[in-house]
Amino acid sequence: MYKPTLDYAQQLDKEDKLAHLRAQFHIPKDKEGNDWLYFTGNSLGLQPKQTQQYIQQELDDWAKYGVEGHFEARNPWMPYHEFLTNSMAKIVGAKPLEVVVMNTLTTNLHLLMVSFYQPTKTKYKIVIESDAFPSDRYAIQSQLKFHGFDAEDGLIEWKPREGEELLRIEDLEKIVDEQGDEIALLLIGGVNYYTGQYLDIKRIAEIGHAKNCMVGIDLAHGAGNISPELHDSGVDFAAWCTYKYLNSGPGSLAGLFVHEKHAHNKELPRFSGWWNHNKETRFNMRQPFDVMPGAEGWQLSNPPILSMAAIRASLDMFEEVGMEALRAKSEKLTGYFEYLINQIDTDRIKIITPSNPKERGCQLSIQVKNADKSLHKKLTENNIITDWREPDVIRCAPVPMYNSFEDVYRMVEKLKELL
Ligand SMILES: *Cc1c(COP(=O)(O)O)cnc(C)c1O
Repeated sequence: MYKPTLDYAQQLDKEDKLAHLRAQFHIPKDKEGNDWLYFTGNSLGLQPKQTQQYIQQELDDWAKYGVEGHFEARNPWMPYHEFLTNSMAKIVGAKPLEVVVMNTLTTNLHLLMVSFYQPTKTKYKIVIESDAFPSDRYAIQSQLKFHGFDAEDGLIEWKPREGEELLRIEDLEKIVDEQGDEIALLLIGGVNYYTGQYLDIKRIAEIGHAKNCMVGIDLAHGAGNISPELHDSGVDFAAWCTYKYLNSGPGSLAGLFVHEKHAHNKELPRFSGWWNHNKETRFNMRQPFDVMPGAEGWQLSNPPILSMAAIRASLDMFEEVGMEALRAKSEKLTGYFEYLINQIDTDRIKIITPSNPKERGCQLSIQVKNADKSLHKKLTENNIITDWREPDVIRCAPVPMYNSFEDVYRMVEKLKELL
């Protein structure tokens, strides 16, 4: 069992087979040169040291080759996005055909809804979780309006029960059972950004499909954090950003998944550009449009190579370590964090994230009764970087790639002191 001492935390770090990874990241420091205790990898992951060299290589090849870099660069830009596909597919448990890196997350959600939100006069509603990330909600409301529906009427919220914070799958089942004939799409956050709850994606897919609804998953808080096994889950589509747990830099490109069952369906409505046109004839320029199979068939533009280089730098680390080892450490690290918080002798603190490791990723959302934002400010003044959500929740994500057991120990010691 865990122990609440610094010695013990340091012992866990010594035994941690992934502890060496921390040195491969830039850890922000205070003026005296002490490492920040960084718990916001769920918002912006830290920078791998090798990222600079990956980007520099593309700058050098651009300087050296100009436009010829599309073919002559050490990693030719023409197929550059393909260099990311295999690693990204592994991270989300998909086949390479099902995955592409392109655009940004909200843009991808829109493009996916163009294809997978096909409302009719009677079957047009969209189900989201009530605490959905605002961008997803706005995107969905605008899709409803775009198709001529009332955004209020068209949106069904899957809510926690009175007095609870977490979602129950049987409540979604009930919604779809009762209103499925009016529902066209379920678009759910696989790991909820607020509570950290990891939902049973496969079950969600079954529930939706039983009533002929399309099912999409936002994996912004899942990719690089949990192993969603997208292919086996059977969901129709998914999208995620790469700047949170995938450490690819602010505003970096996003991932997109379209299940294999839709890979060869050329009849799906979709928006197009030259980049989802057949690669073989793309540069003939005068061909009639011929869409590519698989996720690549949703691309529009030639992608920004500098951003992709940063993603490649990060994915190469994931490739080396593997999600299984990361998950194993993550369960232990977050388990230790949870243990230490539960040791604090107060009734002001409640962890709203599920205690079952299978129902969460690395994040814990900690509710502090009678606290206000000044608590968050004090943590920050003490070099502890967390995220505050009104009215009283601190979101903390110990990331297995670079956070240590000692980080977690020191954070909780300070929190205890401040309370
Ligand atoms: C971070 C996040 C976003 C952000 O969207 P961008 O298009 O990348 O700005 C959207 N949805 C969820 C669920 C997120 O966690």
